[in-house]
Amino acid sequence: MNNAQRISRSSSTTATAVAAAVHQALDASDPPFQSYICDACGYIYHEVDGDPDGGLPPGTRYADIPEDWSCALCGVSKADFSPYTPPSLETLRAAIAGHGAPTVATRGGNAGVLIVGAGRAGWQMAEALRALDASLPITLVSNCAGDLYDKPLLSIAMARGLAPEALARESGAAAAARLGVRLLAHTQAVRICADTRTLRTTRGVLRYDRLVLAHGAQANLPAALPAALCWRINHLAAYQRLRAALGRMEHEGPKDVLIVGAGLIGSEIANDLALGGHRVTLLDPQAAPLARWPAEQAGGALLDAWRDLAIRFVGGVQVVQLEQLHGRYRLTTDDGQRFVADQVIAATGLETPSRLAQSAGLHWYNGIAVDAATLRTSDARIHAMGDCIAINGQPSRFIEPIARQARAIAADICGATPAPYEARAAVVRVKTTSRPLTLH
Ligand SMILES: Cc1cc2nc3c(=O)[nH]c(=O)nc-3n(C[C@H](O)[C@H](O)[C@H](O)COP(=O)(O)OP(=O)(O)OC[C@H]3O[C@@H](n4cnc5c(N)ncnc54)[C@H](O)[C@@H]3O)c2cc1C
Repeated sequence: MNNAQRISRSSSTTATAVAAAVHQALDASDPPFQSYICDACGYIYHEVDGDPDGGLPPGTRYADIPEDWSCALCGVSKADFSPYTPPSLETLRAAIAGHGAPTVATRGGNAGVLIVGAGRAGWQMAEALRALDASLPITLVSNCAGDLYDKPLLSIAMARGLAPEALARESGAAAAARLGVRLLAHTQAVRICADTRTLRTTRGVLRYDRLVLAHGAQANLPAALPAALCWRINHLAAYQRLRAALGRMEHEGPKDVLIVGAGLIGSEIANDLALGGHRVTLLDPQAAPLARWPAEQAGGALLDAWRDLAIRFVGGVQVVQLEQLHGRYRLTTDDGQRFVADQVIAATGLETPSRLAQSAGLHWYNGIAVDAATLRTSDARIHAMGDCIAINGQPSRFIEPIARQARAIAADICGATPAPYEARAAVVRVKTTSRPLTLH
């Protein structure tokens, strides 16, 4: 019997307890558990945790993963994973010494690279720069705590039994120390002055030699949904507050949740909250969920899979009003229907905030317009990446391109061998765990 077979995960057991049990079941002669990273999206497969949703019990060794298994986040195959240990400054320095990568020209008061945003894009950028230059001054400014987490987990965490406070993989402070980066957390970037190469922030003015905008996008709320009355799930802190408001199922029981918008995020969250025991009503102007993919008939498949779940889909409606009512919320649609719920979530799409780009006079086309190969903006000293950019007017709001974007920008900034970025059509894995779908 192997370790994976020895351990079976009961629904009431936490992931941490399972990991501890798997570790205990190791024989002294067994090699320690390893981790592997998806080269496409950065998802990390820990052998100790397995991928129970993907059919891999905790303790499943990478070598034992079947060839038809696919990445939990982006859907590529096992062959696209490589061994992973979090990079440290020491290992990066050793690698640089080993392969003789260039260091950026003399610093002489060089203000270095300033990165705005500590999401996936910001941290990948810092890591890609460090991989090319161990001593380049790098500052990361972010209005959040800067903790590292996998955002795609936010729409599957409840069904996986992941506690919201356990979602951060590493604190921002620890990652900054590991990479030799200065992190200014809880600091809002307010305005760029391109002439003086400075960024005004809520903690003072910062100089830069190169600036990378990685500040993501924000919820695009319809006028009928006041921000104070509904949740938006685009950051860890907001998700943690939503989970706190929903309370623990074993103490407070199921809640009525209204979700407006049945695109990718709305559908995934509806699926997750319903699997977590809540009663969900999902509203959308279209007749079926995932209406952006009519040819793949994804909506029909999803509604079919949801038949036994507490999800009620109401299509063909627009929200006209949301109001607070005796501690609950009442939402009215254009056909006169009224819905009352304990919590309301808006999943109505994203838009890139334009304020920073406008202050620097950067070209704009559905987002910060960047060159398709170098990801430079219209100002040669400013690059942009991640959710905030658009290439030929097409925003890129998926994980997979981010690591490739970071490598292309790092090569451009450090004068290393060019690694031109190549925009590719996204393959979308819809993480509706009751019926996972792959859309093109
Ligand atoms: C629930 C959910 C599930 C998803 N699932 C998938 C999936 O399965 N597959 C996939 O490919 N993609 C998925 N995505 C999309 C993917 O997570 C994003 O494309 C990616 O995380 C974007 O990273 P980013 O760093 O560009 O932006 P963000 O993560 O938004 O980071 C932006 C950072 O900038 C900071 N910031 C913003 N404005 C300022 C300012 N003015 N000053 C300072 N700091 C600022 C923010 O605090 C944040 O740290 C999902 C998204 C969500 C919300």
